[in-house]
Amino acid sequence: MRATYMYGAGDVRIADVGDPALEQPTDALVRVVLACICGSDLHPYHSLVATPAGVPMGHEFIGVVEEVGGEVSTLRAGDLVIAPFAWSDGTCEFCREGLHTSCRTGGFFAAGGVGGGQAEAIRVPQADGTLVKVPVAEDSALLPSLLTLSDVFGTGYHAAVRAGVNPRTTVTVIGDGAVGLMAVLSARRLGAERIILMGRHKARTDLGLEFGATDVVAERGEEGVARVRELTGGDGSHAVLEAVGYRAAYDQALGVVRPGGVISRVGVPQYADAPIGFPSLFGRNITLTGGPAPVRAYIETLLPAVLDGEVEPGKVFDRTVSLEGVPAGYRAMDDRKVLKVLVRP
Ligand SMILES: [Zn+2]
Repeated sequence: MRATYMYGAGDVRIADVGDPALEQPTDALVRVVLACICGSDLHPYHSLVATPAGVPMGHEFIGVVEEVGGEVSTLRAGDLVIAPFAWSDGTCEFCREGLHTSCRTGGFFAAGGVGGGQAEAIRVPQADGTLVKVPVAEDSALLPSLLTLSDVFGTGYHAAVRAGVNPRTTVTVIGDGAVGLMAVLSARRLGAERIILMGRHKARTDLGLEFGATDVVAERGEEGVARVRELTGGDGSHAVLEAVGYRAAYDQALGVVRPGGVISRVGVPQYADAPIGFPSLFGRNITLTGGPAPVRAYIETLLPAVLDGEVEPGKVFDRTVSLEGVPAGYRAMDDRKVLKVLVRP
């Protein structure tokens, strides 16, 4: 089959590789119908050291089950399924607590011997726990929106849930990428009435306004912090949803969070050190939370609104490519010419 591999920074190619096969009785084989390129795929695109064998890419996909192992009981060939970006058994104590990304027998796609989703087909471990069957046809217009449940919508929702967003919280979202926009949509769904979106790409912040943002702050750094403070009566936001991952975004979060507030990070941190002392977090009783979103935990919660068209998170996709177009898709996202690329293998 054809599959996307990265061989080093900026070096994405489509390779002929062996077809995936069932390895464990809990596996399923899935033919990929829709996949996409994630903002987090751009991190290795910037920094991956040369890897002659290449690494498989892609962790967001919807597909059709082709074959299941002997211990898979809830799925059969022909089922259309959403895959969360982490696979999990759904039964261990972490899964039961809703933290599927810490599953005792789980893992992440495109890692540890499991292939990537930017491919024609993929082996899905722990299929019963991982895959969610959806009652729509393969050619449904809902598919792009359903695909956001494999990562960005669930990740934005996780940011808002971890921050305790509710109708009484003022929210600031840092970042106008797909996850930031989904954090806006999620905060709105959780009842927030004041949602300030910090971003400077007008097409994206316009979509953010459509998703529920009430204010847009295009300024960054100290200027951006001052603007958010001005909008919040000088105090800052109860909840700050950080969907970027760079140190500058953390500093911005510190600047706009209100005493007693929460900074919830879902942008994969590209830094290891940042202030947590008296002047930053401690003195103002700030909570710092966040991490890889257990999106599997949120699919059933978010699915109905997508199925009945109440929300249309698939609007974050502004380009569609075939598998052969994936390398150009990475370039376009990296050049900020495109918000998020949909892949139809
Ligand atoms: Zn588990």
